[in-house]
Amino acid sequence: MHECKAAGRFRKEKVTPLPGDNVSFSPQEGSKNGFIESIHSRKNQLTRPQVANIDQVIITMATQSPKPDLVLIDKLLISALAAGIEPLICINKRDLAKKNEKDVLVRQYSGCFQVFVASAKTGVGLKKIKRALTGKTTCFAGQSAVGKSSILNALFKDLELETGGLSKKTERGKHTTRHAELIKAEKVNGYVVDTPGFSLLESGALTPEAVGKYYPEIRDIAQQCKFAGCLHRAEPECAVKEAVENGKFNQYRYERYLKIIEEIEEGRKN
Ligand code: GDP
Ligand code: ZN
Repeated sequence: MHECKAAGRFRKEKVTPLPGDNVSFSPQEGSKNGFIESIHSRKNQLTRPQVANIDQVIITMATQSPKPDLVLIDKLLISALAAGIEPLICINKRDLAKKNEKDVLVRQYSGCFQVFVASAKTGVGLKKIKRALTGKTTCFAGQSAVGKSSILNALFKDLELETGGLSKKTERGKHTTRHAELIKAEKVNGYVVDTPGFSLLESGALTPEAVGKYYPEIRDIAQQCKFAGCLHRAEPECAVKEAVENGKFNQYRYERYLKIIEEIEEGRKN
């Protein structure tokens, strides 16, 4: 491991090396220091947290406390897919829910996404999450208080690298911008971003017509709709509405899709 400084020309070019960057560097002889010579092109880059080359985002909700905001979950799924980042779903606080309550949530996502059911409190499901981190750079997203930090703490409690950045105090107590760091996921050759976050797409970045591209359930059958540019709303002979009627596309998720495209339409009028 080498601790590197960025060469001065990066500052002139207004380029900042980010956590997650792949770089070329020249080591200083006889020391563990060096200089970053070039930053390799990034496959993606988030602004909050500021990290690059994310492979996957674990979109986390709680079974309750707080009540899941499924419109937000669906928007995070759209944002991740639009950014080329694989989304996975984690339903935390398993210990607080009855089986059927948990199943209602699982069913809405398990057809298209990998879904983890977990409890940071009891430890249920954490092994599977750890396995999913293998060889990947992962960040967590979701409403506040769903247990993102608790899951990270539970997964990495015996990690030798510094994880003090995870404490809520340092996160909230100071107003200085804290830089995101990558935590090495021990034994699995992966990294986890220590700052929960992941921004939504700017509203207005998508047209209503484009939204369907980021629903696997819609994307795969939309070309069977009678009308090109079908929004799968009131159009006749719509394959997507048919899939909803046949139970192939989850009704609740479809209703939220309608809400999301309507919201985009409203936003465009203003
Ligand atoms: P974050 O804001 O998403 O990072 O959420 P935190 O990790 O800070 O958790 C918020 C609260 O939920 C804390 O009081 C945790 O102790 C609690 N919590 C987290 N995971 C679980 C869980 O699986 N079960 C229960 N019952 N409480 C949990
Ligand atoms: Zn349609």
